[in-house]
Amino acid sequence: MNENNYKISTNLVQGSYRPKNGEARVFPVYQNTTYRYDSVEELATRFNLEQIGDLYSRISNPTVSELENKVAMLDGGVGALATSSGTAAITLAILNIVSSGDHIISVEDLYGGTISLFKNRFKSMNIEVTFVPQDLSIDELQKFIKPNTKLVYGETLGNPSLNILDIKKFATLAHNNNVPLMVDNTFLTPYLCQPLKHGADIVVYSASKYFDGHACALGGVIVDGGSFDWTNGKYNEFTTPDESYHGLIYSEAFGNMAYIVRARTAMLRDTGAALSPQNAFLINLGLETLHLRMEKHSQNALALAEYLQNHPKVAWVNYPLLKAESELSEGQKYLTKGASGIVTVGIKGGFEASKQLMNNLKLTAIVTHVADVRSSVLHPASTSHRQLSAEELAKAKISEDLIRISVGIEDIIDIITDFEQAFAIS
Ligand SMILES: *Cc1c(COP(=O)(O)O)cnc(C)c1O
Repeated sequence: MNENNYKISTNLVQGSYRPKNGEARVFPVYQNTTYRYDSVEELATRFNLEQIGDLYSRISNPTVSELENKVAMLDGGVGALATSSGTAAITLAILNIVSSGDHIISVEDLYGGTISLFKNRFKSMNIEVTFVPQDLSIDELQKFIKPNTKLVYGETLGNPSLNILDIKKFATLAHNNNVPLMVDNTFLTPYLCQPLKHGADIVVYSASKYFDGHACALGGVIVDGGSFDWTNGKYNEFTTPDESYHGLIYSEAFGNMAYIVRARTAMLRDTGAALSPQNAFLINLGLETLHLRMEKHSQNALALAEYLQNHPKVAWVNYPLLKAESELSEGQKYLTKGASGIVTVGIKGGFEASKQLMNNLKLTAIVTHVADVRSSVLHPASTSHRQLSAEELAKAKISEDLIRISVGIEDIIDIITDFEQAFAIS
């Protein structure tokens, strides 16, 4: 997708849009469901996927395509598909290659919604998920692989464990067994980490977080690295005729784009979880400043983490870059530009003390969100991860006292002062 040699910051700002003489400088919102054709035959060829082009905005729309092209370019993928939310992206990305009777290996510290999807929804669809600790060796992990394993899954930076995934290790595990590695790169974004370069095959995002960055649009994106061999005998979806397209065989018709084309033409078509053009426009606008925001979020988060680490009322602090480099494995040393704006902290006195502190913050708001420009806090055990049992909370590395701070891009002095005044009266 990256047909130019521009740096990532340039591609974030300009994407692939190059307006011609007199055209809109900013890619416009195509606020339409429908497209017009010259003839019945012309439209029929598009329905048969003989010719690629917009048919109906549930399947594609120019404003949404602009976003998809940009994200594919940022990650170095062959194509991308945008969806109505991050949850929809994860669901469609997985169901594109996993069905009833199949098995998935996933790391155990994940976003709460993903755990719920895997544990409840997939279970009811007869899809089994084995949750594994991240720090096991490759030989130990291998023991969890089954003949029907179709996917290895993880989060590059766990929400909210903040564990850094050893992408190389999990890619090796997956590839040794002829299955792909899919990673959720929501917290790091392509600016801080490009998982395809480290061996992942498919990347998923909640665009509702740093991509949008302003807490105003829900969305999701799937990126296809184009490197996985779907014809290895395990993935009939790509090698046998799709009757809903008159016997089309994806791997033959679309080569190394088979995965992402099918995600659109089968999964998105049949589930309808499409991104609205208006939200695609807002997310694209957000991406134009992603590089500036990620640097500021990362700087502010490190500064706040260092302040908290030295505070007498703090029991513990977690921020990936507070760890000594020597504590990271070879495969975890890819966070060279920062580690996003997420910090977790526990306050001495446990849950009650953590709650007190949160209630006393003024500038920093209590919200069910992360990753926007405004600083916010959340108590996962009672909110985003509330549906988990005590044992599952422990596995997801969520203690009772854990506060997840999403450090915004306000002046760091004001953010620290806010915590200082809250500690003083807590
Ligand atoms: C928020 C989040 C999701 C879900 O995204 P939605 O856009 O809210 O559906 C998935 N993964 C991670 C890591 C998240 O933080």
